[in-house]
Amino acid sequence: MTPFGDLDPDAFRSEAHRLVDWISGYLEGAERYPVLSRVRPGEIRRALPPAPPSRAEPLEAILADVERVIVPGLTHWNHPGFFAYFANSSPGPAVLAEALAAAFNANAMLWKTAPAATELELVVLDWLRQMLGLPAGLFGVIQDTASTSTLVALAAAREAVPGLDVRRRGLVGQARLRMYASDQAHSSVEKAGIVLGIGQEGLRTIPVDDEYRMQTAELARAIAEDRAAGFTPFAVTATVGTTSTTSIDPVPAIADVCAREGLWLHVDTAYAGSAAVVPELRWVLAGCERADSLVVNPHKWMFVPVDLSVLYTRRPEVVRRAFSVLPEYLKTAEDAAAPNLMDYGVSLGRRFRALKLWMVIRAFGAEGIAARLREHVRLAGLFRGLVEADPGFEIAAPSPLSVVCFRARFAGSSPEEQDRRNAEMMEAVNATGEAYLSHTKLKGRTVLRLAVGNLRTEERHVRRAWERIQGAAARR
Ligand SMILES: *Cc1c(COP(=O)(O)O)cnc(C)c1O
Repeated sequence: MTPFGDLDPDAFRSEAHRLVDWISGYLEGAERYPVLSRVRPGEIRRALPPAPPSRAEPLEAILADVERVIVPGLTHWNHPGFFAYFANSSPGPAVLAEALAAAFNANAMLWKTAPAATELELVVLDWLRQMLGLPAGLFGVIQDTASTSTLVALAAAREAVPGLDVRRRGLVGQARLRMYASDQAHSSVEKAGIVLGIGQEGLRTIPVDDEYRMQTAELARAIAEDRAAGFTPFAVTATVGTTSTTSIDPVPAIADVCAREGLWLHVDTAYAGSAAVVPELRWVLAGCERADSLVVNPHKWMFVPVDLSVLYTRRPEVVRRAFSVLPEYLKTAEDAAAPNLMDYGVSLGRRFRALKLWMVIRAFGAEGIAARLREHVRLAGLFRGLVEADPGFEIAAPSPLSVVCFRARFAGSSPEEQDRRNAEMMEAVNATGEAYLSHTKLKGRTVLRLAVGNLRTEERHVRRAWERIQGAAARR
């Protein structure tokens, strides 16, 4: 123990070496664990002391409890059988980057407080922009999650409404704002509306077509109707890769509507934007060069562990106008010469997140990332083929990328009964510990999703999941 209470350097070194060995084994052998944790609510809590220790405990004992108490309570996102939500991964370089970031403890609020973190962020986000085929001149800033990126984007959109001056006057007693997104858009759009004082009624959802894509004609009609009713339309959120089915809104047509109506276009590509790194999938971002803002999450499908979301904007000055507040104690001599990234979001303090993105991009290379995404799309296609070949199952939506929506038919059952049996089937598959699926509702019906996105997922894992699904269906 040092006089500061910290570990002495020798103890730190030996514990760190042991821990790195453990992490290495963990990442390599995540399959050993059931992918979905088997604990019941309250179980972990009961295994932990309710009060803090008054005396220092040895690190050895603390790490032993990680294995004894914490690990069994984890749902293993690094497990290759993780097919729920959008799978992601933490490769070695990113784990080391997180350790380094903790060691540096750099707070990238101001350029001055973290010059390298600030400038690395600018550079690596310009690399990512090039990898995605987005136009030069976009300004990128890292946020924690897509929910925050979308909040920031829509705050900028609100700031851009002429004559509103919402920054100074607030919204009370002002124009009734309206924004638009398809009925398949992520819940973070609604949440941003709640936070920004637009309200749930300020978000008008636009119906989708048979392939779950926003109907642009309906969007135009809704805007006209709202203008006639005295609302002030101000923003549209298009989704490239919706959360349920990964459907892709017609961004070029939506951009036309936004241009004509003078509305801010925000594009949510949290999951699917990464696909643009693959040359033959670059079409997913068609029209996005016209967006005022766009969010993509490297922590979803680009092998960067949570959290790291990127907000790109063509109009950084508006984002800055929405968020910049400069008290005396944050003023620096470099304010005119270098950006202070605290000006482009809600939080003041900012983690050194750029490091892990930089290390992952360098360690894989753009082609290495593309090769893995291409393989995930192939695996999803393979799974879709297996489902299509089984008359007891049906495909529930197109699968343009690495997610397949499907369900068992259970012929002869009522729709409600079919929904219930599909949900039970999913629970049975998840209980095997070999695969973890999640569900959604499409047209009111329960649908299961298999999302490929983990770095370590191989064909055998997809085939094993399918065997487990078929087995669970046969027993229902
Ligand atoms: C996952 C997802 C989000 C939310 O992502 P967070 O980073 O968890 O906030 C937003 N939009 C879409 C389309 C998503 O798939």
